[in-house]
Order: sequence, then structure tokens, then C-alpha cells
Amino acid sequence: MELWYTEEHTPTVRFSIKVKNQIVNIRSQFQQISVFDSEEFGRFLTLDGLMMLTERDEFIYHEMIVHVPMAVNPSARRALVIGGGDGGTVRELARYSGIEHIDMVDIDEMVVNVCREHFPGTSCRLDDGRVHLHFEDGLRFVRRFENAYDLIIVDSTDPFGPGEGLFTREFYGNCFKALSPDGILVNQHENPYYDSYSHAMRRAHRRIREIFPICRVYQAHIPTYPSGHWLFGFASKKRDPLSDLDSAAWESLKLTTRYYNSDLHSGSFMLPNYVIEQLEDAG
Ligand code: SAM
Repeated sequence: MELWYTEEHTPTVRFSIKVKNQIVNIRSQFQQISVFDSEEFGRFLTLDGLMMLTERDEFIYHEMIVHVPMAVNPSARRALVIGGGDGGTVRELARYSGIEHIDMVDIDEMVVNVCREHFPGTSCRLDDGRVHLHFEDGLRFVRRFENAYDLIIVDSTDPFGPGEGLFTREFYGNCFKALSPDGILVNQHENPYYDSYSHAMRRAHRRIREIFPICRVYQAHIPTYPSGHWLFGFASKKRDPLSDLDSAAWESLKLTTRYYNSDLHSGSFMLPNYVIEQLEDAG
């Protein structure tokens, strides 16, 4: 019998992956956690029936969410990751010797435990001595800090369920307060193509723009996310993602990457016209 994982991207569009078997299917206090194994994408993690990562294409998302801000501020020392329970964002951050301290806050300890067991390739740096794990709501965690981080990365689920609070004005305002004077906030910013996602994307952009003087959006191609076209938000108090890109400093670090490079960095901020229009019309 053939087994397929099917995700509804819109009420009339479905995306399917043929699976070899289902490895995990448990309910935490917050969400349904599933792990599958497949021929094409290797193992993959879903939360509440939505794709979080696959072994084969996770490098795209994690490189783009980390190396873009790090190339704009290669001297960042203190980082906060909100969500990111699979460990992929921490893995990429931990490659920078200049990073001294990483707080990772995931609401759901069970996701971290499942990923430690089934995704050693992403969770491999969670035990790095610079990494401090906290299990609580990121919305609450960030409230207590002022001028504490050079970089905040929001690697969250979508804006419903436990991730909802991470797309609010209150949250972005607290991130602004928690950042150092030249701090950078990067967040996963949904897709621009399907209406339900682009609505959330425009709302997030509008809210961030009200708070941060610099607010840009960049893109990547991620085969297993809805529409395959994914956006990230880049917001900061001072640093511009293009004019402050320090390619020489980043290249001198000699990090091997499979997706990110400094030409692509600049190119990723060049958006299609329909996306530019959506962002301009965000209100
Ligand atoms: N790369 C993924 C994507 O964009 O689909 C995100 C993956 S990561 C596993 C998302 C994490 O965010 C999950 O582990 C989830 O538990 C966590 N999360 C959701 N809401 C949260 C909240 N309010 N505070 C902290 N973590 C949260």
C-alpha cells in the first residue's frame, strides 16, 4: 500500500510527498508533532499538519535566516532565536566564532526532544556551550530585555496556534527594545503567492515598519513550503541589508554554504513586482 503525506496549501491546492513510513505522531501540550521518512526529501517534521523542515531542503531556509543578517553585522556577539526547535538556526549561528551567547526560546520542549532524536543533522549544535535553551512563550520571554541582543531571529510556526503572538505589534515592539542600538531582527515572513499567507505577510510587514526605521523583505526558493516562494523580514535600527553588507568580512570567515553567497544576498532583496506592490499596499 502506498503512503502519502498531503498538506493543504489552499482549499483547492494540495501538496503531497510519498512517504516510506511515519516515525513519530504525538500530541504535545501545544501541537501535533509528526515525523515521516521519504525517498525524495529524507525525514521531515510537521507541526499541526504543516511542513516545518525536510532533511533535503532545510539548508536553504537556515542559511538564509542566519547568514543574511550575519553578513550585515559579522561582529554580532549576542543572539536570540525564538522558535527554531529543530536546531537548524542555532547550528548555522554556532558556526560563527564571534558569537558568544545564543538564547533559544521554544514554547515546546517536545519538539526539541523529537528533533534531537530524529534530526541529528539540524539539532547537532544545541549542546554547544554558548547555547542556552529556554522553554516558554517567546512573546513573554522577550518582554524582559532591553539592549541585550545584536540579533533576534524569529524562526516560528505560522501566525495561528502557538505562533500567533510572534506576529503582533507588542512582540515587534519588545524585540526593538531588546535589541542593541545597531541590532537586527529577522523573521520568517510567509509566502506572497497564496492569499491567506500573503495577508499575514502584509500585516507583519506593516507592523514591523511602524516600529523599525529600516524594514526590508528578502526571498528564497524553498521547494516544500507553500508555493515554493518564501519571504524573510529584515528590520533594524541602523544597518541597511544592502549598503551595510560586509561581503569581504563575511568571505574572510571562509564558511562553506550550499545556498547563501554574497551575490545572492543582494539579489534576494530584489523582489518581483507583484510582491513589491503587496508590500507597498501593506498600509
Ligand atoms: N522553519 C519552520 C517554518 O518556517 O515552518 C519553523 C520551524 S521551528 C520547528 C518552529 C518552532 O516555533 C516550533 O518548534 C514551535 O514550537 C515554535 N513556536 C511556536 N510558537 C512559539 C512561541 N510563541 N514561542 C516560542 N516558540 C514558538
